[in-house]
Amino acid sequence: MISIANNFTKVVKDITEHCRAFNRAPADVQLLAVSKTRAAEQIAELFQLGQHHFGENYLQEALDKQSLLQTLPITWHFIGPIQSNKTRAIASHFDWVHSVDRIKIARRLSEQRPEHLPPLNICLQVNISNETNKAGCSVDECLEFIHLVSTLPQLKVRGLMAIPRATKVLAEQQTAFGALAELLKKCQPLHPSLTTLSMGMSADMGPAIEQGATIVRVGTALFGPRDYPPNL
Ligand SMILES: *Cc1c(COP(=O)(O)O)cnc(C)c1O
Repeated sequence: MISIANNFTKVVKDITEHCRAFNRAPADVQLLAVSKTRAAEQIAELFQLGQHHFGENYLQEALDKQSLLQTLPITWHFIGPIQSNKTRAIASHFDWVHSVDRIKIARRLSEQRPEHLPPLNICLQVNISNETNKAGCSVDECLEFIHLVSTLPQLKVRGLMAIPRATKVLAEQQTAFGALAELLKKCQPLHPSLTTLSMGMSADMGPAIEQGATIVRVGTALFGPRDYPPNL
């Protein structure tokens, strides 16, 4: 039997230990619980334990769970691929979007963000390992993209997100996360509000925290293995 409570305690402890090892303040690394494919009851259970930020990848699934959980003050993050016909619902039902990688999507999110809500928090997704067919803007496009997005009134650009090439080799994990951190540093002189580095998942949050992650996105380590889809 998987115990969400035990897993949560362990993940929080692991994050604290990584922070101690790498001289980071634990308050500077936020846990985002990735709840794709998980039932609303599991989200509610984790919420009662003190976890308030949840990340979802699939819009319809997320909307269904949000309506079941509407009495809980959850901060919802959208972290999945975005099709343009989904931007209106994403702009209305989420507080953060980590997976913005095209200016067209950014424009639509800004235009469609309801006026009574604060600006939508945005991380730009970067294809940091330069993989073909992988979501994310290229490293070279990143600065110009940030310029454009920072002019959109209903968005607030907070930082960068990446899903590096999957690897178990520590040095490769460090290199990819370090590259995203460097890129953020390059953007900061012009855009000091960019302070978020959304990087690291269950299997690689140690090197991500070492390289400066401020949000780690963790699913499996909290809820156990997913039945589908196996990887993302
Ligand atoms: C599924 C997913 C995660 C969590 O992955 P785990 O290996 O289950 O921790 C993190 N980020 C994104 C973008 C995901 O799609």
